[in-house]
Amino acid sequence: MENRSPSLREKVKQLRRTFVDKLPGTLAEAHRLCELLVRVPADDSTLDDLYRTFHSIKGTAASFGLLEISAEGAGGEQLVLQLQGLEGGARGQQLSALLPGFQQRLERLEELWKLARQADEGTGGAEAPSFDLGKDGGKDGAKAASKKVFLCDDDEAQAEILAAQLSCFGYGVTIFTNPDSMRAALLVAPPDAVIMDIVFPGGVNGTDVVANLHREMRAPPPVVFVSSRRDFEPRLRAVQAGGEAYFPKPVKAIELVEILDSLTLGQEPEPFRVLVVDDEPEVAAYHSFILEQVGMTTRLLHEPASILDVLAQFKPDLVLMDMYMPTCTGRDLSRLIRQVPEFISLPIVFLSSETNKVKQVSALRVGAEGFLTKPIQPEDLISAVAIRAERMRTLRSLMVRDSLTGLFNHTFMSQFLETALASAQRDTGKLCFVMIDVDHFKQVNDTYGHPAGDQVLVALARLLQQRLRNSDMVGRYGGEEFAVILQDIGTDEARRIVDDLRADFAKVRFTAGDGDFSCTFSAGIAGYPGKAQADLLRESADQALYVAKKSGRNQVQVAP
Ligand code: GH3
Ligand code: MG
Ligand code: MG
Repeated sequence: MENRSPSLREKVKQLRRTFVDKLPGTLAEAHRLCELLVRVPADDSTLDDLYRTFHSIKGTAASFGLLEISAEGAGGEQLVLQLQGLEGGARGQQLSALLPGFQQRLERLEELWKLARQADEGTGGAEAPSFDLGKDGGKDGAKAASKKVFLCDDDEAQAEILAAQLSCFGYGVTIFTNPDSMRAALLVAPPDAVIMDIVFPGGVNGTDVVANLHREMRAPPPVVFVSSRRDFEPRLRAVQAGGEAYFPKPVKAIELVEILDSLTLGQEPEPFRVLVVDDEPEVAAYHSFILEQVGMTTRLLHEPASILDVLAQFKPDLVLMDMYMPTCTGRDLSRLIRQVPEFISLPIVFLSSETNKVKQVSALRVGAEGFLTKPIQPEDLISAVAIRAERMRTLRSLMVRDSLTGLFNHTFMSQFLETALASAQRDTGKLCFVMIDVDHFKQVNDTYGHPAGDQVLVALARLLQQRLRNSDMVGRYGGEEFAVILQDIGTDEARRIVDDLRADFAKVRFTAGDGDFSCTFSAGIAGYPGKAQADLLRESADQALYVAKKSGRNQVQVAP
């Protein structure tokens, strides 16, 4: 905290300075609009511009703690309001009466501007709103591409089998048969997790080794114990040594993967993505800066016209929307967003200095999630955004995900295929649609039981998810059918990728009762630009899958 706040304060100061630097321009614009209005009092658009000018002085100045400037802005805003709703002639008369008021406000603003500039040049300066962002600020959201695991077991053959299985799920496993050599390697470059045997030759005990690591290292990697012993004593020692889990041998790779996933992946949830829409760059930058301080990812948008493209690209969890902008109001922009089916449930939160409850309610009526008033305390902004973004994520995951595997469901995949195809067409890109179907799956259910079948589906889902890139979409299409959308990839490369997955999946051993078994899958691939429509891609991939089944299964076919 101590080392973070100075830079935050510095940044706010800098934004405030930019606002102050621009203020004379803004005041000149207000003068110009006043003169224009005197000449053509009936011109509503001039009046609206004038309103927006004062309104934004009020809001922005308040955000930067320039309260007197904000008050003058509010005064100007009130004057404009007295002109609204009047017809041309009446408005002209009213304007003559109010004109001295406008002049006074603008002159006062000019004086205040000089004071603010002097303050900024000196050391002091008006204090920006105070904030305390809590204990831990930013996170460096960078995720390791592939996870490193140390496996320490004196039974090398067993260790190799386990390592081969884990590698199918994207874990790079280094095997050590001797705890000392693992310890040495670990102190130099710690892996993401450790799998540790307990009983070693010569009376060496794995739990002691791990307990020592906890003394030696400030942040030792998480440890999972595996052992041929099933009794109480080693389990207790494992817990005391700080072990995260304990698996009696023979270890089921799938279960181990589940734990490793939660230990290595679960630590860094995707940061919330917030789109900040505000025509004033300093205000947008200020709000975005606050959100980024706590690890959120933000994108700024000053020009409403590009909103749909930005939404499609950036895929925000939430939009923070200004109310008054030159091209259109936040209300209109929200309605426009809501008319696109994809964005119907995207949370939109207004952030405005509008304190008029009637106007707030009318904004909420277009489906906005909330209304925050400027200036807002950073803590309030953060929590308002985080709560809504989190809720959105939960809701969205319920709507678009399959409950058994956590993969995207059929509906979502179909929608996404349309979107991905449109973007491939626009950027003259490539795209592949892959259909995957487990071979003789009915037999698995019949022989080993439905739960064993479920285990296979979950394992395949994990394998696909772990091994494909973030931009690749993986979905469960139906019972034992999966679909994958590979973006920017041609059919040749897709065939190689899917065939690697096929070979690895065939290596995974599943356990059921006393026995174990393995499974295979067949896959069909169709690619854009060869097939130029979503329906055609789906049908062709399905036909290719059919050919793969007919030709003996456990293979990948590309549509001709
Ligand atoms: P093929 O190699 O030709 O694909 O043969 P198959 O047996 O895999 O194909 P079929 O379509 O005949 O059988 C699919 C089976 O998948 C039938 C159904 O009971 C089973 N299934 C569907 N959904 C689930 C599920 O969620 N869990 C389990 N365990 N089984 C499921
Ligand atoms: Mg099948
Ligand atoms: Mg089937």
